[in-house]
Amino acid sequence: MLQIVFDLRAEGDEQPDAFLDSTELELMFAGTRRSAGDALRRKFATVICGEHGSAPKFTISGVYDRATEQMDLRYHVDTCCKAFLLRVMQILNQRA
Ligand SMILES: [Zn+2]
Repeated sequence: MLQIVFDLRAEGDEQPDAFLDSTELELMFAGTRRSAGDALRRKFATVICGEHGSAPKFTISGVYDRATEQMDLRYHVDTCCKAFLLRVMQILNQRA
């Protein structure tokens, strides 16, 4: 079973003229969870390791920097073995 864990947070002090207030930031995080989650579920719905039968586990970390108002998303993948990790990375890098 495909696992997706999100770790999204904001860093830095809120700016007085912030582009996104905290409610909008939550909405942006929710949208990120939805779109990034959907994209992974679409790509990996039926992908399991041929040797071990395990699905990949994704951790998506995102840090929104309030000072630069930029979001940095990182994908971390856990798999049962190296061969499957390579396959997962290949699929991940394909266009949707
Ligand atoms: Zn494996």
